[in-house]
Amino acid sequence: MEPVFASEHAVTRTAFERDTGTRVAKPRRAAPSDAVRPTRAEINLQALRHNLAVVQRLAAGARVWAVLKADGYGHGAPAVARTLERAGAHGFCVALLEEGIELREAGIRVPILVMGGYYGAAYEELLVRGLTPVIYDRTQVERFARLARAGRIDAPVRVHLKVDTGMARLGVTLDELRSFGTILERFPEVRIEGLMTHFASADDATTEAMDEQLRLFEEASAELRRIGVHPTLRHAANSAALLRGWARFDAVRPGLALFGIAPRLGELGELGELGELPEPESLRQVMRVRTEVIALRDVAPGNPVGYSGLWKATRPSRIATVPIGYADGVPRALSNRGHMLVHGRRVPIVGAISMDMAMLDVTELAQVALRDEVVVLGSQEGGNELISASEIADHCGTIPWEVLTSVSRRVPRFYREP
Ligand SMILES: *Cc1c(COP(=O)(O)O)cnc(C)c1O
Repeated sequence: MEPVFASEHAVTRTAFERDTGTRVAKPRRAAPSDAVRPTRAEINLQALRHNLAVVQRLAAGARVWAVLKADGYGHGAPAVARTLERAGAHGFCVALLEEGIELREAGIRVPILVMGGYYGAAYEELLVRGLTPVIYDRTQVERFARLARAGRIDAPVRVHLKVDTGMARLGVTLDELRSFGTILERFPEVRIEGLMTHFASADDATTEAMDEQLRLFEEASAELRRIGVHPTLRHAANSAALLRGWARFDAVRPGLALFGIAPRLGELGELGELGELPEPESLRQVMRVRTEVIALRDVAPGNPVGYSGLWKATRPSRIATVPIGYADGVPRALSNRGHMLVHGRRVPIVGAISMDMAMLDVTELAQVALRDEVVVLGSQEGGNELISASEIADHCGTIPWEVLTSVSRRVPRFYREP
């Protein structure tokens, strides 16, 4: 049989790659046309636009810079970005330079902020591609300024400065900020257009940690003003902060909410994706993962199912096998836990999830047949049930962000305009 993955890597070479002789490999995922299995992820673009509209209302005039790192949280960044750009997103944020390049190559025109902060030898490439760097270190100012002086890039070089207000991950501390003025004076080619910080605990039950971060952010702003730096774009809010109506400043940076999942906001309530938002609309989960029954069997009481016989029938049982496993992103921690939907109803996952397959107990359902649709994530026609990313995360002791970004590249994404 022909390999399903016709092309493992995109081979477009960038200027940086030509000059340095390196190649940034861009892994490709299974294309819809290559898909043989009935296992696929459907991305509902109408739900995505709906969520953007909810987010825009919550942003109350602040610009929405949609966070599309990690391939748009697994939804496919280019298609998601094109949809959001047309629907009025003001900008995008990615983690990696490669992610920014991918969006430019997909024709995205609005600003793209590269937040990961590591640019290796690719400072020039970043600007040539029309991407906006986040900086957090004085040496970065110098690198950009020297490139401008050498005529390799245009001045002024517009950057966003990240301040560390309590996350202790990336960003200049307030102490370092005080000496930043000197370096900015020495290198006027670099202009601080944006000032940002990131919240460590925006979804906490209490707001103490966040209040303190906000206080430090204001202090950082004041410090910059003192040295004559006036960023026009201040931004801090992730989805959780935005849903609480906090820290909107000039722009907001939601990721998860755009994909239809509300982070749980501590004791403010169990805000699952259909929970009460501070808006009449609720968010709609954008991704649906579906497959089909490929085998059915009857298992007698006492007989085991799957690796290590992790599950044993206690009654005459009807077991359905589905072609999706942990290599597709269904966490192995769902073994003997959690549900999938068949005929619009929940059925339990039984036995160990294997790499490529999983088993369901469909005894309670009448007349399950081969090729019947099985929903792993999302909802199913003919039923009101929803398998949410948060529900799966809860079963596995993780968070919905990880569930979404785990749907692997061998699951082709199909884009739907219902
Ligand atoms: C991921 C990320 C966001 C978006 O967070 P969500 O919780 O998904 O809304 C915003 N800002 C930064 C710096 C991030 O890394």
